Amino acid sequence: MDSTAHQSAQIEVTAIVPAFNEENNIDACAEAICTALESASAGFELIFIDDGSSDATWQRIEACHRRDDRIKGLRLSRNFGKEAAILAGMESAKGQAILTLDADLQHPPGLIPEMIKVWRAGGVHIVDAVKRNRGGEPLLRRLSSRIYNRLALAVTGVELENSSDFKLLDRDVAFALLGMSERRRFYRGMSKWTGFSRASVEFDVPSRTAGNSKWTTRGLAWMAWETIVSYSAAPLRIIHVASVSFLVLAVALSIRAMQLWLTGRAVSGFTTVILLILILGGLLLFCLAIIAEYIMAIYDEVKQRPHYLLRDRIE
Ligand code: UDP
Ligand code: MG
Repeated sequence: MDSTAHQSAQIEVTAIVPAFNEENNIDACAEAICTALESASAGFELIFIDDGSSDATWQRIEACHRRDDRIKGLRLSRNFGKEAAILAGMESAKGQAILTLDADLQHPPGLIPEMIKVWRAGGVHIVDAVKRNRGGEPLLRRLSSRIYNRLALAVTGVELENSSDFKLLDRDVAFALLGMSERRRFYRGMSKWTGFSRASVEFDVPSRTAGNSKWTTRGLAWMAWETIVSYSAAPLRIIHVASVSFLVLAVALSIRAMQLWLTGRAVSGFTTVILLILILGGLLLFCLAIIAEYIMAIYDEVKQRPHYLLRDRIE
């Protein structure tokens, strides 16, 4: 976020829109957001972040800027992901409040005036737009995200159900987020973690206006797992529980084996041996897999690579 923000005190709200191959959405999106912000009579800037699109997204952003210089653009050198794009937008935001929303109009700009009203009334640092339904998502996707959200709540203590990346943040919150240097970013969870006061407004998720969702089921599954690993060391504790339970079992089995041996009935312990090998082998591999996950997370962090690289900028 720009520290020279006081020079542009007329910018009350900065809208940040990450866009990855959204050429057919940029125009409509820009218009809807500008209209919404004007109706809230807010001085604003709208920053599109082209997250390494391979279509004409950047040309559309440039065209928008020529029509209205309150519309600005950042172009990342390649696809760094939505989280990095949001971060890039926040770092050059000048507004007193930061608004984040998707380019596909699934986060209806019509809600913006209400969010601004709640924030202007004071005392609230984060205004969350909460999903009332989930715009035509397949049943299986809905079910799995529900199960995941419950699991994430139990393990990390961060409530994600129906939350979205459609948010209005006060500058203080945005500064706090910029101060969090972690590589694996998860905007939704991080803004909750800051603990600033929050309010929410509800919205119905419409379906995408153009193009396809950038998420594949596999991508979502990995993200689900990575957010848990980034937020909590709880999976490491599974190793403790498993090893203690196994110890108890091992002691019981040893006593039994000794007893059989002492009474001279120790015939073929084949079944026991093969079971032990299987169970122990499985357990060890599982534990190693969990440890590997954390090593991967640490590896990501220690590299301290930049979150994104800029290729172009229009202001
Ligand atoms: N997006 C992005 N980089 C990516 C993937 C997505 O900036 O690598 C943007 C995308 O252009 C859109 C928003 O993130 O504005 C949400 O993406 P999408 O609609 O594909 O996700 P969904 O709504 O299905 O969760
Ligand atoms: Mg979408």
